[in-house]
Amino acid sequence: MDSIPRRGVCLVLASAPGVGKTSVSRALLEMEPNLSLSISATTRARRPGEIDGVHYFFRTQPEFDAMVERGELLEYARFLDRSYGTPRAPVEEALAAGRDVLFDIEWQGHLQLRQKLPADVVGIHLLPPSLAELERRLRGRAQESEAEIARRLDVARAEIAHWSDFDHVLVNRAFDRTVAEVRSILHAARSARTRQSGLPDFVAALLKD
Ligand code: 5GP
Repeated sequence: MDSIPRRGVCLVLASAPGVGKTSVSRALLEMEPNLSLSISATTRARRPGEIDGVHYFFRTQPEFDAMVERGELLEYARFLDRSYGTPRAPVEEALAAGRDVLFDIEWQGHLQLRQKLPADVVGIHLLPPSLAELERRLRGRAQESEAEIARRLDVARAEIAHWSDFDHVLVNRAFDRTVAEVRSILHAARSARTRQSGLPDFVAALLKD
């Protein structure tokens, strides 16, 4: 046996918008060939540059509701008056095949995922170094009105308030360091005894010799 069969890791990376989780996710996906991103379904409008089936599955509300009805979503939540949810089948297939899956979802989705897959989920919350720094990053993104900035800060506070639901909490001070820390969490999770479904057989064979 080359490697011991195991379940994949369900790695949830959550943060307030503007903390840098998208850049961290991108770097992780490049460095970790066994890790793939769960592509969510959403009812929000497609932004410039976004591709259906790559960034999201863009769906109408009736289409989304039908997915919920058919039990096709592992979790779903409302965020800023739009629906977001994780398609079940690709995640279950990947985990059973020992492939790790990365989730860029908000706190409600994380809690539901934990309920559905308690032995699989490893949750990481990324905190900004300070609220002032977060505000600077949110302002830097685009020319937004003061009301829009204030609304985003409210969304950020709501997400940060759920920090204690997560297994790991990191402060994103330096990008490279954060990426390295997330990778070490992923690597450690892979070798968790409970995740290595092939261990009983491996050890039985080991002791037989
Ligand atoms: P955005 O519209 O900016 O792409 O995402 C808005 C928020 O929805 C982000 O916090 C993102 O993590 C979250 N999100 C994206 N996909 C899902 C999903 O499938 N489920 C849940 N619960 N949240 C999601």
